[in-house]
Amino acid sequence: MKKGLLWVLLALCTLTGCQKAPEPVEATTFAMDTVMDFTLYGDWDRERAKEVRDWMLERLGWLDGKLSATKEGSDVGQINRAGGESVEVGTPTAELLSQSLELCEVTGGALDITAYPAVKAWGFTQEEHRVPAPDELEALAQSIDYSAVRLEGDTVTLPEGMELDLGAVAKGYAGDVLAETVRASDIPSALLDLGQSTIMAVGTKPGGAPWRIGVVDPAQPGSYFAVVELEDMAMGTSGGYQRYFEQDGETYWHILDPDTAAPARSGLASVTVVSPSAFLCDGLSTALFVMGLEEGAQLWRDHPELEFEAIFVTEKGEIYRTAGLEDRFSLAEGYEGREVVVLE
Ligand code: AMP
Ligand code: MG
Repeated sequence: MKKGLLWVLLALCTLTGCQKAPEPVEATTFAMDTVMDFTLYGDWDRERAKEVRDWMLERLGWLDGKLSATKEGSDVGQINRAGGESVEVGTPTAELLSQSLELCEVTGGALDITAYPAVKAWGFTQEEHRVPAPDELEALAQSIDYSAVRLEGDTVTLPEGMELDLGAVAKGYAGDVLAETVRASDIPSALLDLGQSTIMAVGTKPGGAPWRIGVVDPAQPGSYFAVVELEDMAMGTSGGYQRYFEQDGETYWHILDPDTAAPARSGLASVTVVSPSAFLCDGLSTALFVMGLEEGAQLWRDHPELEFEAIFVTEKGEIYRTAGLEDRFSLAEGYEGREVVVLE
């Protein structure tokens, strides 16, 4: 350590009585096709916090095993291979399916959890990308229809030929489940980074200040163009920059328009949703990306009961945000001059 820095630290120690903040308890794991990072803060028994962390990891692994479309023996895999027969699933899967089907309905089918055959045809599941021919896309679009999913209690029936994909909502759902575990364990403060720009902030930062989370600039994914302050709140971003491939000078991304079975081209580069529910952040950010700015803003106006706010970035780089973000939103360093249009 440099001598000067040591003196500064010593001086700070004297001033503050040298109360060292307890070390956070951390975990990094790979689940739901992405890297996740959890950090638990507080002035509690570290051994207890480690138990909570281990329980969270176990719960996450279990959920991933049930909700993955690709994992052997998952609930979703069983539904997809049932050939039209009914399948009994675990209660969490049924709960997520029920919430998701409601969101498919509210978004007019912009979110559609039966897009899996199309997601596979573009090669996004195996990262072996290809561009399906127009007639193949037409047939795939015909096969996407969430309203054909039958859910009665814990029993799911899907017409033959259709397949589910909960990739647009599972990370968020897991965020809500894990946040419940954290809260029930009396841990006052935690940051759950569920990967692919889905974040759940439990409580405040240690010390009481809100968490300050950056929003990625879709034109320069290494930078943040804005900062959003969160306290017991989640945030999720969907954008074409997150997963894509290029072919013959054209960029194709992983968020598909259920009407065409092709990458959604609504004029948006990214959508960020802020809400107490991480599930809603995840599902709605995907749906609003498909809907585009006008329709997305209208959904926000029409559904105040959903309790969400949104930030839209267009492919031209214009920034729009909903009025309810007034106290939480600021432009990041280097972006101070950018115009932000407020949606009312
Ligand atoms: P997200 O990263 O949360 O925006 O979700 C995108 C993932 O959800 C994709 O990788 C697909 O697996 C799936 N997906 C793509 N388009 C849709 C859609 N319109 N509705 C539901 N799921 C989708
Ligand atoms: Mg999503």
